[in-house]
Amino acid sequence: MKCPVDNQPMLVIEYEGIEIDYCAACGGIWLDEGELELLVGAEETDAIALSGGVPAPAPGEKARRCPACRKKMRKEATAGPDSVTYDRCPRGHGLWFDQGELGRVVESGAAPGAGGRVAAFFRELFPADGAATREEGPS
Ligand SMILES: [Zn+2]
Ligand SMILES: [Zn+2]
Repeated sequence: MKCPVDNQPMLVIEYEGIEIDYCAACGGIWLDEGELELLVGAEETDAIALSGGVPAPAPGEKARRCPACRKKMRKEATAGPDSVTYDRCPRGHGLWFDQGELGRVVESGAAPGAGGRVAAFFRELFPADGAATREEGPS
């Protein structure tokens, strides 16, 4: 599968049996439909309102094309105070997150269980990607 941003071949990262497509060039992540639910759990996905995402208010980003069908993806945003804009294939192939976005989504919806574990996984995977998300104090 090719990255919708820069057309580079994406790496497949396996996490607990879920295949995550990752672009090393731009740090973006593609999740096939349903994989987010597998990653963070259905309840957490509902909690961050991702399954029914709301249209992004001000699409400042360029439209991406679905890496599976090349259709232009829709901009959507998560609910909640720390809203994240992501892209969704109109044909339901999956979701695209630019660098750092998935980590923020996971953390914003993080329940103490799966969400937190996945958030830790992403911090480990993308250590450089902390500018916007790292808020742990020195304690
Ligand atoms: Zn890329
Ligand atoms: Zn598609």
